[in-house]
Amino acid sequence: MKVIVCVKQVPDTSGKVAVNDDGTLNRASMETITNPDDMNAVEAALKLKDETGCKVIVVTMGPPPAEGMLRELLAMGADEAYLISGREFGGSDTYATSQIVAAGVNKIGVEKDDIVMCGRQAIDGDTAQVGPQIAEKLHLPQVTYAADIHKEGENITVKRMLEDGYMTIKVKTPCLLTCIKELNQPRYMSVGGIFEAYDKPVTVLDYEALKNDPLIDASTIGLKGSPTNILVSFTPPQKGAGMMLEGADMGTCEKLAGILAGKHII
Ligand SMILES: Cc1cc2nc3c(=O)[nH]c(=O)nc-3n(C[C@H](O)[C@H](O)[C@H](O)COP(=O)(O)OP(=O)(O)OC[C@H]3O[C@@H](n4cnc5c(N)ncnc54)[C@H](O)[C@@H]3O)c2cc1C
Repeated sequence: MKVIVCVKQVPDTSGKVAVNDDGTLNRASMETITNPDDMNAVEAALKLKDETGCKVIVVTMGPPPAEGMLRELLAMGADEAYLISGREFGGSDTYATSQIVAAGVNKIGVEKDDIVMCGRQAIDGDTAQVGPQIAEKLHLPQVTYAADIHKEGENITVKRMLEDGYMTIKVKTPCLLTCIKELNQPRYMSVGGIFEAYDKPVTVLDYEALKNDPLIDASTIGLKGSPTNILVSFTPPQKGAGMMLEGADMGTCEKLAGILAGKHII
């Protein structure tokens, strides 16, 4: 059994977000991190490894420096890493990204007992489309918004978080799960793990390595294969500081009513 975790390197948006004049993200000037939901997926995979001894493989599509992120995940305890990288893949939207990542997962190979995991959503693109699209392309059953995962034989029981409650779903392997932050608290890298990370393999999959996969075609990858066009992007205006009214007396209520009426809200 193995767990293949799809991870994305994203700009750290908790600091200053740098935006180019044309409204696109200035990725080069920003620190990068592993997408937070993907860290939860990696932790879930490592917990399964602790329980069952399974193998954990991390895979990303990104530029060559994304290898640094993969080494950190190897230092957390992942066993192998794959970096899908090539100029042909640049400019891919979510449709093309999922074609390419699915082809990478195909190359690694999905067997009967295996699980593919993704984060629910990336903090830069924010679409939550890539995980479900990979599942569709690999013809795998999928359970999204996983907040708890248990493996019993070939069944996986997943607690799925909804807006107003939970849904428990039983799914057979092989399957794809998308993970959310409520699932767990990701572990830190260990000192021993950091040393070992440099002895573990990071395999680069370029266009040559993937071109024979039926999902890879010049018309379905990169900018040319991306049906999405960004018409305009902009930074939303900053919200004002807001106003606090203190007190539960009639005077405060009348003041609040006066402010709302003044803004034509009531
Ligand atoms: C026309 C167009 C051109 C673009 N060009 C570029 C570009 O050149 N470079 C660029 O970085 N972005 C580019 N983007 C953005 C890029 O399409 C998205 O960031 C990417 O497809 C992932 O979508 P998302 O961020 O919404 O991920 P989500 O769908 O929100 O991610 C969900 C999960 O899918 C998995 N996942 C997502 N992306 C990857 C990945 N790359 N590798 C492995 N797993 C992944 C992760 O597990 C993640 O948690 C472009 C977008 C458009 C529309």
